[in-house]
Amino acid sequence: SVAGEPRELTDGFHLVIDALKLNGIETIYGVPGIPITDLGRMCQAEGIRVVSFRHEQNAGNAAAIAGFLTKKPGICLTVSAPGFLNGLTALANATTNCFPMILISGSSEREIVDLQQGDYEEMDQLAIAKPLCKAAFRVLHAADIGIGVARAIRAAVSGRPGGVYLDLPAKLFSQIMDAEAGAASLVKVIDAAPAQLPAPSAIKRALDLLKTAKRPLIVLGKGAAYAQADDSIRQLIEKSGIPYVPMSMAKGILPDTHPLSAGAARSTALKDSDVVVLIGARLNWLLSHGKGKTWGAPGSKKFIQIDIEPREMDSNVEIVAPIVGDIGSCVEALLAGFDGQWPIPPAEWTETLKTRRDANVAKMAPRLMKNTAPMDFHSALGALRTVIKERPDAILVNEGANTLDLARGIIDMYKPRKRLDVGTWGVMGIGMGFAVGAAIETGKPVLAVEGDSAFGFSGMEVETICRYNLPVTIVIFNNNGIYRGTDVDPTGRDPGTTVFVPDSRYDKMIEAFGGVGYHVTTPDELKRAVDQAMDSGKPSLINAVIDPAAGSESGNIGSLNPQSVVVRK
Ligand code: ADP
Ligand code: MG
Repeated sequence: SVAGEPRELTDGFHLVIDALKLNGIETIYGVPGIPITDLGRMCQAEGIRVVSFRHEQNAGNAAAIAGFLTKKPGICLTVSAPGFLNGLTALANATTNCFPMILISGSSEREIVDLQQGDYEEMDQLAIAKPLCKAAFRVLHAADIGIGVARAIRAAVSGRPGGVYLDLPAKLFSQIMDAEAGAASLVKVIDAAPAQLPAPSAIKRALDLLKTAKRPLIVLGKGAAYAQADDSIRQLIEKSGIPYVPMSMAKGILPDTHPLSAGAARSTALKDSDVVVLIGARLNWLLSHGKGKTWGAPGSKKFIQIDIEPREMDSNVEIVAPIVGDIGSCVEALLAGFDGQWPIPPAEWTETLKTRRDANVAKMAPRLMKNTAPMDFHSALGALRTVIKERPDAILVNEGANTLDLARGIIDMYKPRKRLDVGTWGVMGIGMGFAVGAAIETGKPVLAVEGDSAFGFSGMEVETICRYNLPVTIVIFNNNGIYRGTDVDPTGRDPGTTVFVPDSRYDKMIEAFGGVGYHVTTPDELKRAVDQAMDSGKPSLINAVIDPAAGSESGNIGSLNPQSVVVRK
């Protein structure tokens, strides 16, 4: 500035906003309050879209799924202590699922917090966040905001993506500095998630092994969906002729109806394969840790694993051919390495899987076509299966127990990143947050298929959905309770621990906020209501009455429940 003239000033508020905008952040999910209310207002005034929720966990889940869908970190903005803790659940979940997300929380004054003198919402948030996310940073000086935001972004999206916590004490926002110096302090992150090329020797080792396979199998995980390497993955499968099994959020990278999909022959495929290529899928509980009877005889399996995180290798069983790198580069390298000389798997193997798949599909078919009341999970899902077949661009959000397990198998997906669900933890409560995030980020219609219990964890966000007029259709599988609606208190005092008010009308909830409610009892009615709701593009909620006796305990993971062997007299 010219000497003598008053300097132009900027402050913490504006530096945070400018740093986010400089790095292409267009949307913030959050809940306003002290000390970030004005930050939200100013973001909105500066053109950032601010989506305000009713509870921070749902805002955090929206940010997390935004990260999964876009490969840019989703931003969640919360108040201190309780708001921070609510958002932290979503941040931990995002980290577990490898979704890039940044939780930005306001916090109380360091001097008081560190001396534990009892400040408003006093909490050492940085220390608490640290073990639950990939990285955590605090900015104390306005001049460091640019670096703080840059570090948060890079930490969230580079390598294995995950959640990052950014702590911004209240005092930071009103700190002032010279505008020019402020602008110069901002950092535009260059190449935030650089390609990570696999070593040629790792590719050769994997290809040499693959050539010996008699019963090869590819397992696609949500890392493969996240990587957006859809064309290369399809080429790898089609050129090699290797059958594949998709994990639930990898469904649709290739259509579930693809001739090489062994999704409906999953058990046989896992048990009888000899060489398994894991692409962005971890050998965690969802894959029985790569061992036990799911995977056939001990020693019958050799694993090739593609993952960006080197330490994922050998986490549960020996990985004979680790390929460390980003999925796009790794799959490209496999394709280049084979180059026309694929040893197509023996027909015996592909035919075995096909026969098993067709038999399983045929066995299921009649259960999906019953048109009677009350509905069971199969008949209701039969109707929704047709909806997605007719609307392959719609995004399916899915949570619950039976509602989740059965929908995963019954509803075919046709396009990548269209199925968003409970993920690695099998967590309940992602529903409305994911629905809002998906609708905002993609502009596509969203169909959220929710167990009645699962819905309850985020149900207040139907107001948010109505407020932003989002094209979200919620279907509640209402079976009066958790797993089933039939539990009773043996003493006769209270309702059973797993049941809700019988015959609740969830459809009336959305009407309170100007959305459209439907109440249906047969699959035909359900199909008609969903079509009408999705055609209208209006926020809608369909209460679908399911037989209270239809579900099974914990869906298909009942074996994880500990059993008591003591019978009390
Ligand atoms: P699923 O539950 O579908 O099996 P997981 O969450 O277990 O999927 O596995 C996803 C894996 O994908 C993680 O190990 C993660 O490190 C990896 N991953 C995520 N993004 C990429 C990427 N771009 N390139 C390579 N690996 C990735
Ligand atoms: Mg239920």
